Amino acid sequence: MTQQKPGSKRKIPMRKCCGCGEMMPKKELLRVIRTPENEIVLDLTGKKNGRGAYLCKSTQCFLKAKKSKVLERSLEVAIPDSVYSSLSEQLEQETAEKT
Ligand SMILES: [Zn+2]
Repeated sequence: MTQQKPGSKRKIPMRKCCGCGEMMPKKELLRVIRTPENEIVLDLTGKKNGRGAYLCKSTQCFLKAKKSKVLERSLEVAIPDSVYSSLSEQLEQETAEKT
């Protein structure tokens, strides 16, 4: 009998959520990056280059991060409202997709 041990899974890259501070699989998080051009963008592919900050797909964490400006601090740059808007839009989509 082959029983899967909990520790025998492939290693999943973990990142820390800026909102709640919990370590989560990278795939479960939204990634906001600062590009080499100093632009702040929401990276949905996870493949863009730049310095990244991560957030759970949770409105609570988003609001917390927005309020405490933790993304700003993490990326060391001001984050325009438009980025927060697209983040919250994305969050709505992500949560709506869940079945
Ligand atoms: Zn979180």
